[in-house]
Amino acid sequence: MKLSVVIPLYNEVKNIPPLLEEIFQALQPTGWPYEIVAVDDGSRDGTFELLQKELARFKYFRLVRFRKNFGQTAAMAAGFDQAAGEVIITMDGDLQNDPADIPRMVEKINEGFDIVSGWREKRKDPFLTRRLPSHLANKIISWVTGVKLHDYGCTLKAFKQEVAKHIRLYGEMHRFIPAIASWMGVDIAEIPVNHRPRKFGRSKYGLSRTIRVILDLITVKFLLTYSTRPIHVFGLWGIVSGFSGLALALILSLQRLFGGTPLSNRPILLLAILLIFIGVQFISIGLLGELQVRTYHESQNKPIYFIKEIVENGDPASGDR
Ligand code: UDP
Ligand code: MG
Repeated sequence: MKLSVVIPLYNEVKNIPPLLEEIFQALQPTGWPYEIVAVDDGSRDGTFELLQKELARFKYFRLVRFRKNFGQTAAMAAGFDQAAGEVIITMDGDLQNDPADIPRMVEKINEGFDIVSGWREKRKDPFLTRRLPSHLANKIISWVTGVKLHDYGCTLKAFKQEVAKHIRLYGEMHRFIPAIASWMGVDIAEIPVNHRPRKFGRSKYGLSRTIRVILDLITVKFLLTYSTRPIHVFGLWGIVSGFSGLALALILSLQRLFGGTPLSNRPILLLAILLIFIGVQFISIGLLGELQVRTYHESQNKPIYFIKEIVENGDPASGDR
């Protein structure tokens, strides 16, 4: 299978007929064998029933139905798990992404990139509630994660299979897929794609997601930088805090013992105690984190590295040495 098109769908019944038609029109001329992987995320408007009717329209069509609404990230993760294509495309099911962009993205993957991300250069969404917060979020994400893209929120993306299959998604992390994947060491390209206003159905998100994006960003940053060495982040602050507390306590003790200054009216003593406590706690958290990291990687046989390729001359295991 050359290509899998993964589409999360939640109450998009009116969009389905034109969506499938556009995908067909876009991919048929390429001649590539492709499959549709539609994930119905617990829709209640007949999305599943309609998709079921359309199954026979494509040679390969896999329809996954969730028991309830698990969210777009979960739907995309299920799509990745089910997809069999060498290249995996993700796109929205609301026609805001244009299937006509898919062949260009696949060509970019063929050029050797691991991820090709769509950039909605001329985005057709309301300014104040969507484009402005998203613009700010993009700037922050790019600065914090170090993965330089213009547009993280665009679902239209292409992945090499080996990359997509290794991405573990939680919460609402689908926005951070390029950042999460950057941990594996991937080549990412960004190309401008068409974007259209939503015609049918309504958007599932509002302004409230901004805060969740920020919280997710903190998690991603932590996982990216310190997930294999938590003691370095907690321990550093633990040492800084613990030693300043100790130094302060030492000064106060010396003043008390040799200068005769009483401690009873010196609130700074509390600060010294607090700093020592925080120091001990941070270092303990760091050590617990180190335990967690080992459990995390070893219980699932998760490597702490990813190999691109191995080039060798002769196989020492088979030949005589
Ligand atoms: N979606 C989903 N589950 C959800 C919310 C959204 O599968 O809980 C799908 C939705 O059907 C659409 C895509 O995710 O295909 C993007 O959602 P939406 O268009 O509401 O997001 P926006 O374009 O407004 O950011
Ligand atoms: Mg949309």
